[in-house]
Amino acid sequence: MKKKTILSDQDFKRIITRIAYEIIEKHKGTKNLALVGIQTRGDFLAKRLADQIQKIENVTLPVGSMDINMYRDDWTKISRQPIVRPSKIPFCVDDMDIILVDDVLFTGRTIRAAMDALMDFGRPSRIELAILVDRGHRELPIQADYKGISIGTEHQDMINVMVLEHDNQDMVYIEQD
Ligand code: 5GP
Ligand code: MG
Repeated sequence: MKKKTILSDQDFKRIITRIAYEIIEKHKGTKNLALVGIQTRGDFLAKRLADQIQKIENVTLPVGSMDINMYRDDWTKISRQPIVRPSKIPFCVDDMDIILVDDVLFTGRTIRAAMDALMDFGRPSRIELAILVDRGHRELPIQADYKGISIGTEHQDMINVMVLEHDNQDMVYIEQD
């Protein structure tokens, strides 16, 4: 197993700062904006982005979270149906611009399930996607609006995302055979 660092602690923090600015720039502020993180690490990233936006704009955005899992034995298996557990969306989604936040974008099936689940809550005016790592291999026409880094991977590679709140440090590395 080869391990290679993709994002250092500094790279990681710069990406959060950049994406926070990109969101504010694209939306010309923060009106009707909310973030929804996909558990586990997308959740931490969503809160991190909300904190950064708070620092820049002095506005506290609503942050929700969704628990969506693939139930596949490893990343090389053909993706099965994502399992969506009850979500925590503590705000009304109607007419909101909602940014889904996740750590890694792979086949796109998790985000598709997240969009379906979100729309069961109401009618957002727009849904966008922010992702830390795009590793390719999409099986659906889903792309990120805000992206940390794109890396070409083999299907069986594994990206490891570590976040300060959960793993005691911010870093991303890839494990390859
Ligand atoms: P997808 O549904 O796009 O196939 O996979 C995305 C979801 O699975 C994300 O929630 C992400 O956390 C997880 N995932 C997929 N591939 C990887 C990977 O290589 N590393 C990590 N850490 N998570 C992955
Ligand atoms: Mg995940």
